[in-house]
Amino acid sequence: MTDYPLHGSCFCGAVRYRLETPPMFVHCCHCTDCQKQTGSAFAINALIETDRIVLEPGSLEPEPLEMKTDSGRPHDIYRCPKCLSALWSDYSRRKVTRFVRVATLDTPSALVPDVHIFTRSKLAWVQLPPGARAFEVYYDLEKEWPPESLARRRAVMAKIA
Ligand SMILES: [Zn+2]
Ligand SMILES: [Zn+2]
Repeated sequence: MTDYPLHGSCFCGAVRYRLETPPMFVHCCHCTDCQKQTGSAFAINALIETDRIVLEPGSLEPEPLEMKTDSGRPHDIYRCPKCLSALWSDYSRRKVTRFVRVATLDTPSALVPDVHIFTRSKLAWVQLPPGARAFEVYYDLEKEWPPESLARRRAVMAKIA
């Protein structure tokens, strides 16, 4: 069992945060945007309500930088203002949910991907664990998310409706 809160930071430590609860769901994204933006094979994103991410006392506030997307919907990546490490994303500027970069946690192994997405652009040498739920592009939330997480998502989305 993972103990909460989970602590994390940017590379330089000017931004320090904690996740108060488990995320709703965890993506390992193999899309070409994530590859380009990270310079790596994939991004691991923990989807969580924004108000469950708490900045530690004295932490700097991460600053958003807008990324272009194919859909045309905005994608803001929040970065440390000093070292520019990417900490989390806000897709479509919903404000109420964040995609936290799991490898910025002090214990990145604490969160394991629930699904692998955009495997159509997965690098050939990356081998998924046996039994991993993998999708060429995206997937159906209603089918893949646990009921508790769907309920959390509905509750948080109601705030912006
Ligand atoms: Zn930093
Ligand atoms: Zn991606």
